[in-house]
Amino acid sequence: VKNVIIDCNKTTEQNENPEETKNISIADTALLQKVIRTGLVTSKNDVEVQRKDPNSPLYSVKSFEALHLKPNILKGVYSMGYNAPSKIQETALPALLADPPQNMIAQSQSGTGKTAAFVIAMLSRVEPSHKYPQVICLSPTLELALQIGQVIEKIGRFCTDIHIRYAVTGENIPRGMKLTEQVIIGTPGKVFDWATKFRCLDLSKIRVCVLDEADIMIDTQGLQDQSIRIHNLLPRRCQMMLFSVTYNKDVMQFAECLITNPNIIRLKREEESLGNIRQYYVNCSSQEIKYKAIAIIYSSASIGQAIIFFHTRKKATWLAEKLTHDGHGVGLLSGEPNVDQRITVLERRFRRDLSEDSERFRNRVLITTNVAARGIDIEQVSLVVNFDLPVGVDGNADCETYLHRIGRTGRFGRNGLAINMVDGPKAYNTLKQIENHFDRKIIRLDTDNLEEVE
Ligand code: ADP
Repeated sequence: VKNVIIDCNKTTEQNENPEETKNISIADTALLQKVIRTGLVTSKNDVEVQRKDPNSPLYSVKSFEALHLKPNILKGVYSMGYNAPSKIQETALPALLADPPQNMIAQSQSGTGKTAAFVIAMLSRVEPSHKYPQVICLSPTLELALQIGQVIEKIGRFCTDIHIRYAVTGENIPRGMKLTEQVIIGTPGKVFDWATKFRCLDLSKIRVCVLDEADIMIDTQGLQDQSIRIHNLLPRRCQMMLFSVTYNKDVMQFAECLITNPNIIRLKREEESLGNIRQYYVNCSSQEIKYKAIAIIYSSASIGQAIIFFHTRKKATWLAEKLTHDGHGVGLLSGEPNVDQRITVLERRFRRDLSEDSERFRNRVLITTNVAARGIDIEQVSLVVNFDLPVGVDGNADCETYLHRIGRTGRFGRNGLAINMVDGPKAYNTLKQIENHFDRKIIRLDTDNLEEVE
């Protein structure tokens, strides 16, 4: 299977539509990240644990059996294909499932198993014979709430007497109605409204409250306050869990006003490095020659997935059209006006292709924008092409972005390949700055001998 993501970083050309250069929010990025993820992100780092209450037992487990989950939940976990707990789950789950319940703050990068951890904990705390809301999960956006709901539905598929209700935009409750579902997933505003204005849900009966994506909550006007107001209506003994991708003063301040005596667990992101990446550059005097180089590289059989980075959407579109013309399938992502549509394209055009090892999809190309793809790790990517080298607003090489595009963490293990297109003295200068910054040689490739990179 061979796929290409074309990524344009629209910062350097003046003639782009300003709408297009608008950054998508961190909530959008988090969502895209979830949608495109194909599996667990593993890490060689150890989980760091801080305990506020030294009396609370803390241990880790190496198997799901050791957690003594209810049989239907365990069945659900195995039906997801999870054989053993992830690093974060090993430490978080025993504390989340312990009696008396313990509060927790957990931080780790996206894809490390946080959602699955709190979903297992939420399901475990439900008393199915009680027909009223018992556990709630607060999420910053409708789309993220729906993503969590899907995980609950999947892991909980054998818990046929547990039901979910979404408290999100578009869901309405007739006045006077009381909710009978045990699990509520929603955005803070809607949950607060339902609890206070509509009174269809009694927050004093909630046993577990999860706050997911806390870093996005504090970044979005109003969500933080609404979460605190919800928290004020919860019983004192309600188990509080807070999950976040980033860990900084603001997140911790927010966390600490909601959560007393938490266990804090953190799994640091593995550092990206250029250690196992072969870096090359190609002198290309024109766009046409760049295209030719890409076409040669792309058709070389040994390369799997690829990402191509651009400065502008205009150039990305140009390349997409040319590739289409030459018989490659192209999915254009950057023109999509909203997140929903971008997701549909990602799912249809890329993720499915990755899983279908079919000749039919060999030359599929996906075009996306830089903002949509930032931070999204496609594990299978083996080639990164910088159609344009990354430069900052000051005109100097943007080494951080370069590392982010090309770098691999330990989990990728195998070698990667990076090819930089140099189209003149300015780009050559940028290349030299990057080379000096990382003190790693970028080797010149001859356009006539591109096959040698294989
Ligand atoms: P996060 O919430 O940290 O972003 P998720 O819980 O969504 O992480 O998990 C990331 C991916 O890994 C998902 O595809 C999920 O189904 C999968 N996953 C989660 N836990 C495990 C596990 N123990 N074993 C294998 N895969 C897992």
